[in-house]
Amino acid sequence: MNTSKRIPLSWAYDWLQQPKQQYIDGEWVNGGSGEQWTVSNPANKEALCEFTMADAEQVEYAASIANQRHESGVWSKVSRTQRADMLRQIARLIREHTEELAVLESLPNGKLFTESMADDIPTCADIFEYYAGWTDKFYGETSPVEDGFLNYTVKEPIGVCALIAPWNFPLYQTSLKVAAALAMGNTVIIKPSEYTPLTTIYLVELIDSQLDFPKGVINMLLTDGKMANQLTLSNNVHKISFTGSTGVGRKIVQNSGLSNLKAATLELGGKSPCIFFEDTPDLDGAIDRAFTVMFSHKGEKCSEPTRFLIHDSIYDQVLEKLIAKANAVKCGNPFDENVDQGPQCNEAQFNKILEYIEIGKGEAKLVAGGYADTEGDNANGYFIRPTIFSEVDQNARIAQEEIFGPVLCCTRFHTTEEAVQMANATAYGLAAGLYTGDVSRAHRVAEQIDAGMLFINRYGCYGLAAPFGGFRQSGWGKEMAIHSLSSYTKTKGVWVYYGDA
Ligand code: NAD
Repeated sequence: MNTSKRIPLSWAYDWLQQPKQQYIDGEWVNGGSGEQWTVSNPANKEALCEFTMADAEQVEYAASIANQRHESGVWSKVSRTQRADMLRQIARLIREHTEELAVLESLPNGKLFTESMADDIPTCADIFEYYAGWTDKFYGETSPVEDGFLNYTVKEPIGVCALIAPWNFPLYQTSLKVAAALAMGNTVIIKPSEYTPLTTIYLVELIDSQLDFPKGVINMLLTDGKMANQLTLSNNVHKISFTGSTGVGRKIVQNSGLSNLKAATLELGGKSPCIFFEDTPDLDGAIDRAFTVMFSHKGEKCSEPTRFLIHDSIYDQVLEKLIAKANAVKCGNPFDENVDQGPQCNEAQFNKILEYIEIGKGEAKLVAGGYADTEGDNANGYFIRPTIFSEVDQNARIAQEEIFGPVLCCTRFHTTEEAVQMANATAYGLAAGLYTGDVSRAHRVAEQIDAGMLFINRYGCYGLAAPFGGFRQSGWGKEMAIHSLSSYTKTKGVWVYYGDA
């Protein structure tokens, strides 16, 4: 696809000059905390814009007004056809403004502009169209109860949904949550990551200025974790959909218990394995694919295969190819089409990854990368060379803990049982992949691996009609497809007694 920009970067810098405010009940208001947050460009550390963060009073006001609007029925009672039409209009706005959104996605995140243009932003439009189609297709059932009785179920909106997103796929994560929640008739409070709020702000501006949503159906809070924590404690919030770290996920569950036992969907961290058996079909293709999924988006992807488990008979051959590929990666400005890898999203992430690399040097054999890329202009940003550790023990910290960066752990195995045991040997269970030419083994191993998503002979397959989400400490519940809809609804069971004949 031609990704040349018709919207110049200068457009973004003009837009960045305009005030960035909270959006509550259809009004743009300054954050009440007096505390400024600066959004920065990780490629060169320049300040992009500032906003004043919301305070506790504003957070509670947003929650209570969203609840009032929910109870008033301005959205939950709107016809399903009209709801679908509004979602399609959001999709249209995203398609019409793909370039602006792609620029605003890449600037604070460091994601390649070509990826934002070709994948992330168009997928956001797909998501709104997909869930527009569900407004009148997700409904209750009649239950097979005794004669003389009728029992039927009704799917009702759950209420106010707090939608808390991370910085790695900012608008994509937000869209998944907003589209499904609105499709089911809920009101929403969007909380983008403070590091990457630009696309969410811009989309809310487009919606506000061009669409006719009732006030208070879509609200947005700009703040950091402190006030997001406050939001999860509000009794006016009925559901949290959270994507982020396992530590914060745990806190959200505690806060639910401390307040109104609100429901939570949690998409958390991962340490996903990819097993290469000795009979991997098209070994070169398999290595290419797994390498790309692992290192694309600078390794800041929750479901990437960070642990390659490789059969002893092909280990050296696979490792040699991986090293060559890692060494060929060009790090640099994400707006340069010749660059393969942009900067890590922020300073904290950059430092955390470098710390893990130092830990890894004491735990395993470093065979590629292992340092910050400071070539030329890269010295001004958060660039890290694709890094590979070999002969990694599964008990090592780099094999157990989520690094969330371009750091791959390779381990050798000898038997299928050993590979399965290693695959399951972390607290996470987000995704797993396996490559084999033996169909029976593929199914057997897929059954034995305790992960929410299994990829057989092609790591990293995603589609809106397929569920996404992990097991164990990788989270609760699923996003995408029909699966997220049940989490944005409550099921009411109604009994009717109509007597004996
Ligand atoms: P994070 O947990 O630090 O922050 C995520 C969001 O939560 C941000 O908007 C942040 O402001 C907010 N937050 C922080 N503290 C909070 C609190 N106490 N209460 C409520 N909200 C709070 O995560 P991150 O660093 O932005 O993202 C990286 C993490 O996200 C990684 O662990 C990664 O695996 C995970 N992730 C998971 C998936 C998935 O689908 N499983 C997808 C993407 C990212």
